[in-house]
Amino acid sequence: MRQMLVESLKNLFSKPATVEYPFEPSPPPSGYRGVIVYRKELCILCTKCEMVCPPGAIKFTYNGDGTKDFHYNPYLCIYCGECVRACPKPGCLTHSQITAPPATTVPDWDSLEKEAEESKKAWLASKKKKN
Ligand code: SF4
Ligand code: SF4
Repeated sequence: MRQMLVESLKNLFSKPATVEYPFEPSPPPSGYRGVIVYRKELCILCTKCEMVCPPGAIKFTYNGDGTKDFHYNPYLCIYCGECVRACPKPGCLTHSQITAPPATTVPDWDSLEKEAEESKKAWLASKKKKN
């Protein structure tokens, strides 16, 4: 009885657990996996994220000077978090905590996939030549 009284008093003076949606946005649940955020300055271009991504939502295009460009398709992403887990650089890939749908437009992904494959082939061939 005493415990019940304590709980009742606690609930009486605590903030409500609910929010006044849609006037107040719901906070994302803990461990929420939103769109992937990439920090180029931390990236070592190991391409592990590309290798582990199940639907192929991450692609790297290879430049003539040996650098690579990261591309991400939030509409292909299944938000599994494999790329975040595989990335050896902490903080380089993270999940956004914004619950809104991705607002970005992606380039023609079919063409980008072709470009990624062809540029990788060309890069490997030039590497072979050098060795
Ligand atoms: S969260 Fe999963 S599907 Fe999305 S980019 Fe990372 S590995 Fe690919
Ligand atoms: S796994 Fe991380 S460090 Fe490696 S290429 Fe991807 S984002 Fe960059």
